Amino acid sequence: MLSSRVHKISAGVACLVAAFAGATVSTAAGADSTADVPSYQEFAASTYVDVDGAYVVNGDEALSTKGDLKKFYERLVGPESTPTDGLIVNTVNGADDKWSATQAANLTYCVSTRFGTRHADVVAAMNAGAGLWEAATSKINFVHVPAQDGKCTTRNNSVVFSVEPVATSQYIARAFFPSSPKRQRNVLIDDSIWTSGTWEPGDILGHELGHALGFRHEHTRPESGTCFEDNNWRPLTPYDSSSIMHYPQCNGGSADLEFQSSDAAGARTLYGS
Ligand SMILES: [Zn+2]
Repeated sequence: MLSSRVHKISAGVACLVAAFAGATVSTAAGADSTADVPSYQEFAASTYVDVDGAYVVNGDEALSTKGDLKKFYERLVGPESTPTDGLIVNTVNGADDKWSATQAANLTYCVSTRFGTRHADVVAAMNAGAGLWEAATSKINFVHVPAQDGKCTTRNNSVVFSVEPVATSQYIARAFFPSSPKRQRNVLIDDSIWTSGTWEPGDILGHELGHALGFRHEHTRPESGTCFEDNNWRPLTPYDSSSIMHYPQCNGGSADLEFQSSDAAGARTLYGS
């Protein structure tokens, strides 16, 4: 059950990444052939559109508009310089994608009551995932606001983000970045989170909250040798194949998606200790 589940996750990720991975790797390497580069139309047509209309890229990251998707595509196929230097932070136009110190200390969220009988389990898993980053530095503080759970959507301006259920076979959970507009700031969780084998729900949500803090997939770094996404990031620590932000199925070193000391160090580098 575990292996089939992991294989399913892997296949889903590969499906979203492989469509253009070859193209970007050859572009980065300066290869002369662009025959494998999909057109924007082909790329857009192959991109999964989520229940809320967002485009899901890199497995579990959401983009709100067609304009964002076009920019993402252009960065992907454009000229790139590979950083040589784990945890890495997303960059937008070269600047770190992070919360202000004030906001990082008060990242409020609601957990939708639409989780029904699983609501308490989601609350506990969110606490576990948030706790990983909060233990790394006192500068990061996630705050559950139960009073908002009954109206927990991206339209609720009383919280920074919402945690909502979704039914999809495309991913287990999905998140956003600090630069994401409010209408896209949610963590969506599929029921498969409860049957993900050695990936504990708290660790899966720890990974998603890593994105919410601005951290990118560790496996996009050249050292992984696979699962390349793009170069719009800045290294915070040396490469760590066991990072919680590294998919195990991308030559990862931690099969159970555990939080590492390198993740804590990276969080302190970005937000202070
Ligand atoms: Zn991810």
